[in-house]
Amino acid sequence: MTKTFQELGIDVDTNRALKENGYEDPFPIQQEAIPLMLKGIDVVGQAHTGTGKTAAFALPILTKIKRRGPIQSLILVPTRELAVQVTVEINKFAKYTGVRTVSIYGGQNIGIQHDQLRKGVQILVATPGRLIDHIKQGSIDLENVRFVILDEADRMLDMGFIDDIKFILFYVSEDRQTCLFSATMPQEILRLAQEYMKDFEEIRLNEEEISLDTIDQSYLMVYEREKFRHLCDLIKMRDKKQTIVFAATKQRTHRLASELKQEGFRAITIHGDLSQRQRDNAMYRFKKGTEDILVATDIAARGIDVPAVGHVINYDIPEDPLIYFHRIGRTARAGGTGKAISLVSQDRIDDFGRILRQTKHPIRKLNDEMGIEIPIAQRRQQYQRPYSGRFQRRDYEYHKRDDRTDGTRYRRYDGNNYRQMRRSGGYSYRQQSGYNNYRNGRF
Ligand code: AMP
Repeated sequence: MTKTFQELGIDVDTNRALKENGYEDPFPIQQEAIPLMLKGIDVVGQAHTGTGKTAAFALPILTKIKRRGPIQSLILVPTRELAVQVTVEINKFAKYTGVRTVSIYGGQNIGIQHDQLRKGVQILVATPGRLIDHIKQGSIDLENVRFVILDEADRMLDMGFIDDIKFILFYVSEDRQTCLFSATMPQEILRLAQEYMKDFEEIRLNEEEISLDTIDQSYLMVYEREKFRHLCDLIKMRDKKQTIVFAATKQRTHRLASELKQEGFRAITIHGDLSQRQRDNAMYRFKKGTEDILVATDIAARGIDVPAVGHVINYDIPEDPLIYFHRIGRTARAGGTGKAISLVSQDRIDDFGRILRQTKHPIRKLNDEMGIEIPIAQRRQQYQRPYSGRFQRRDYEYHKRDDRTDGTRYRRYDGNNYRQMRRSGGYSYRQQSGYNNYRNGRF
């Protein structure tokens, strides 16, 4: 039996705001996490953006904290986008409570943040680096914090924030409730939980089952060299406007966006190297519809919550299937529907195979219905030079395709000299020294 928010124990004022915002029934993660958090139990939840995890931790916090006074709750997030998004979401729920939430992140003028802090804050949403700056300056005091949320913990560890998190937790009283949310649960996360959390309860959701129902997934087998043409065709065919195109690297996002613009499309990029202003500007334009195509890398797109996104196109297939699921979760937001299309080139067949095996949802192959011939798998070749002495022999082993197709230069040693090369995205062959072969018993 699913319970209502009120039955789960959410207070009247927060409930009123929920109703106004169209939150009728709690999502599964909320059903599970809210009662535990209200009881004061530490929670480790496996859930990605799109499952409703923000409300899962924000609602019990709003119900439990004092509505005035110092900072009582700290929410640590990996990116500025997520900080802003979480703050916006909490402010929706807090409308009738008088609780103030402020986000603190790098790239924004620290003076503005000082002003906001001076007005009084009960919930602080922060990225680790900037929070440490404030702690060191003495402009933030975490002494009264009773709730700590580590949101997208796996991403924070990926981005190298582990020491920062430990530093920050040192400043928070041990008499606190700590909850951690993460899309994936690698060992490192569980170690962090064991070290910093009390007898926590784990909530694991089968994430696909929750959020992929309303996403129409398909893929197209293509030749790498024809990918761009297919991308343009897919964009022309789309029925809803706002589209996110995922590319593997920052350089590729740039190249793709400029090529799309040359074709007459309205495209904009977002990636980790942009300044805060550039990112905010890109998101603002995309949300407003000034540009209807956002070409993004994974890190930058994490946490993007734009309900109007009708299409996600995977221009490059990620190696980790979970990233695929995170990406496609950018569409079909807030109860809507969406389409996710992946362009699978020859060298990504293995990666895509793993994705196909991980989901129970159908992912349709579009080649037949679009009349597009499927690339024929070519045999991987083993290049060998003739044997010429014990330590001189060189084996050229097939090496995974280099993703960096951005044309940047690199140096390659050809046995005598270094040669200037350009990254073209072709196959590369790793040179193995004869000595390695000797050691590996291959003689
Ligand atoms: P999140 O995983 O927190 O990023 O939430 C994903 C989206 O679902 C956001 O747009 C929320 O506003 C929306 N959402 C979360 N919980 C509910 C709910 N119980 N009912 C309706 N919409 C919700």
